[in-house]
Amino acid sequence: MSGKSLNIDVEIADHVAQGILELDDKFRVQYANRAARILLRSGDDILDRYFFDLHPDLTPLAVEARRQIEEKALHNEIIHIEDRNLKIEFKRTENIIVLVSDTVTVMDLVEVERKKIRAMLESMVDGVLMTDQNDEILVMNQAAKKILHVSRKEDSVTKKYFQDTLGFYPFRLTKGLVHKTALQATIKEEIKVFDKTLHSIVSPVYDPEGNQTGTVVVLRDITDQKEMEERKSDFLSVISHELRTPLASIGGSLDLVLDNVVGAINEKQRRYLELAKDSCHKLNIVIDDLLDISKFEKGRMEIHMEPISITQLVEEVAEKFQLSAIEKDIVIKIEKPAQDAKVFGDYNRLVQVMNNLLSNAIKFTPPHGEIEIRIFLPRVLSPHVGISVKDTGPGISAEDLERVFDKFEQVRQTETRKIGGTGLGLAISRSIIEAHKGKIWAESKPDEGARFIFLLPVEKRAAAAPEIYAEMTQSQPQEEIHASIIAADADSAYLMKSILLEKGLHVSLSYSAQDGFETIRKKPPQLIILDLDLDPSSGIQLVDILSHDSETANLPIILFSRNEPEKILPFPNVIFIRKPVEINPFLHALSTAMLKIRGGDKRKKILLVDDDESLRMIAREALQYQNYIVIEASDGNQALELLRVHKPDLILLDIMLPGIDGLKIAQIVKSNISTSHTPVIFLTAKGQTEDKVRALKAGGDDYLVKPFDSTELAARIESILDRTEKELSASPTTRLPGSVMIEKEINQLLQHQSHFGLCYLDLDNLKSFNDAYGYAKADAVVRQTGDIIRETVLRLGHSTDFVGHIAGDDFIFITRPELSDQICMSIIERFDQIIPYFYNPEDRQKGYIETADRYGVWRKIPLLSISVVCLTNERQKLTDHVQIAMLAADLKRMAKSIVGSVYIRDGERIPLTSPSI
Ligand code: ADP
Repeated sequence: MSGKSLNIDVEIADHVAQGILELDDKFRVQYANRAARILLRSGDDILDRYFFDLHPDLTPLAVEARRQIEEKALHNEIIHIEDRNLKIEFKRTENIIVLVSDTVTVMDLVEVERKKIRAMLESMVDGVLMTDQNDEILVMNQAAKKILHVSRKEDSVTKKYFQDTLGFYPFRLTKGLVHKTALQATIKEEIKVFDKTLHSIVSPVYDPEGNQTGTVVVLRDITDQKEMEERKSDFLSVISHELRTPLASIGGSLDLVLDNVVGAINEKQRRYLELAKDSCHKLNIVIDDLLDISKFEKGRMEIHMEPISITQLVEEVAEKFQLSAIEKDIVIKIEKPAQDAKVFGDYNRLVQVMNNLLSNAIKFTPPHGEIEIRIFLPRVLSPHVGISVKDTGPGISAEDLERVFDKFEQVRQTETRKIGGTGLGLAISRSIIEAHKGKIWAESKPDEGARFIFLLPVEKRAAAAPEIYAEMTQSQPQEEIHASIIAADADSAYLMKSILLEKGLHVSLSYSAQDGFETIRKKPPQLIILDLDLDPSSGIQLVDILSHDSETANLPIILFSRNEPEKILPFPNVIFIRKPVEINPFLHALSTAMLKIRGGDKRKKILLVDDDESLRMIAREALQYQNYIVIEASDGNQALELLRVHKPDLILLDIMLPGIDGLKIAQIVKSNISTSHTPVIFLTAKGQTEDKVRALKAGGDDYLVKPFDSTELAARIESILDRTEKELSASPTTRLPGSVMIEKEINQLLQHQSHFGLCYLDLDNLKSFNDAYGYAKADAVVRQTGDIIRETVLRLGHSTDFVGHIAGDDFIFITRPELSDQICMSIIERFDQIIPYFYNPEDRQKGYIETADRYGVWRKIPLLSISVVCLTNERQKLTDHVQIAMLAADLKRMAKSIVGSVYIRDGERIPLTSPSI
């Protein structure tokens, strides 16, 4: 209770931040507002208590106040007596009014926090720097100053000094790392600064809106650690050498005794001596491994390259292991290509790798198992040979797949631990393969045994790969980029994986659309590489789903196939490569994809079509200056080809062209649903009015007279692009024409009075889906539906058919009455096939989701379905909008009352049989 006040408006007082109390002559509380109770931490029963008693700290204050009030007979004066936290003012009116306020202001708090952070930064052993967008240094702690040899006093270190010493521009380095968490977007590198080795971690800093405002650089001095590692390696090498001599003499002596050179020995003695000899041999192998490792670490391992037959090498090594295989009843199978596979390599070193893989395989395969060795020449990116060794042992868990290649590492499972070893073999194998510019890794799935794969370039230098290869491997920041490869042909997949590994990516492999889909769902990658010829249509279906799911929609997808599929081209991030895949296009696609991953090239693409080279040059200059990407074609056929491949945002088109002329191209562009929204600006010769008219009639959005002014060109392009964006898209979601265009289209239909089918499509249960899976996923479903409609109409409809997005989950398309059944049923079939994949596997299997309705009652809501109703003017006259709208609404009501997807034409429900397409 607050009590009553003689002087204070109690209503207001409870809402102010300042504490207000009213005390009687005896200093007993008569009233206290809410703030006072909070500040004094008095609780609610404050009334009639003595002010002194509220808190022990208040006692001296109150005594002093009372003294002053009595002595000086203070009435309306204010007495300041300041406590550490609270400022308490006494004011004498009829009663005594006490005002309590917090002495700490917001600024003070900020200052305290700042000091804390500063103190923390300064006491850190790691150097910390923060820069802004211009790489200008904002913060630099003492440790960083020390590491970078900046004098303590110097506060503002210039950006130039920073760049000179560290040699990089942190902001530029991290710009556009588009990852979900800053943790993933960091770039870790080892750098040398002066005489020190530093581990640097550069992370982008974002503001609350998600814009990058700067970077944080953490520098850790790892010089000592590095030195330690080096010394350890020296130590290993010295010790190994030192061990080898006595061991040689032990071995030699044992041989002498065992060969009876120094007299006869009995069987028992022989058995023990043989044991000793065996151990001596094993010890020798360990020492060899240790020496190899230290040689590799110091870069002193010599590799003698010569042309060798890898088939022969593999067969020889396999032969050596036959005996131990037979002992365990293990079959070793070799699969090899018809022609002899050759590489440029070090024979002995490669034998060492095969020895290691085979001895591991035999070691880990249980009796009666099988080891399969495959030599393969990947059909893609040709100049490589691959070797895989697969066993039927316990396999290796996903988290150990990488670790087994580390020094002294063994799998953590107890069963495999029991099988002895030093854990050096695979580390050495990896060093050997990498010295050959190849790649080695392991694949394993639960209960499937382990498969080790390595790929070697056939030619002398690492795959006669062009400059891009070198360029891409060069600056390889260690961001964590995950790629998912889905390909039916394992050999090609292996080779692609080896190239991606080389670039520092993490790669998962799948061999079917279903498997790939599950893998991607579990852990969405940043790049997808997909073979479209997986099995009929499942590849395309997968692209379809992926490019609509909000988690994967914006990922770059590299697709390869024997035939370029028209249907998939509307998707924005697809990069297509024709099979057989060659190394150059693959690397090209990869670098484009990496660009997308790193920075997301959001620049607009302009297709410039003109046969006059000098004009193209001028336009290109001007457009590139305005930050557009320019794609050039010099004739009509080339223009059409580039149009399909690049999907430009705008076309600049000359009318007079060799081959197909500009007018015809514009007609093609405008009559195709997937390109009809692309604006076309014609470039016409001076003064030919006739041309201009023809140009606009052909569907041109604007024209420019040559020679044109480059500023005007840029301005026109910008305004058209802006307009198209606004006008054409009902929602940016589907990029389909919106209500304005739909109305226009229907008006035209009604005027012409030809036969038409007007089909309305509407999603069922989208709201519950949205509640359960969120807005982004619901949006993806809408986008996917739009694309299913667009593609089906494109495939089965007439070239003049129209598709529009009314709003939300309502779509419309207009076709000929005789085509509508087939299109509608095909849309439903495709919808029902694809959309369930937007649910997680459990819900998909159940066939419904459970959500609470408005009243909090749990309900089972069926999966998303689609209601399609079609109105034709075959049997009835359709004359105006209102009539159409009412008829459509009736049909929709009818459709909605039926669970699942339905198709209703002119009031009649048409059974959904699979249409013959
Ligand atoms: P070592 O075999 O001497 O321990 P390696 O470097 O050759 O050393 O292998 C490292 C580890 O990798 C092994 O200890 C084992 O745990 C795991 N490993 C290697 N090959 C296989 C295989 N074929 N099956 C299962 N695990 C394997």
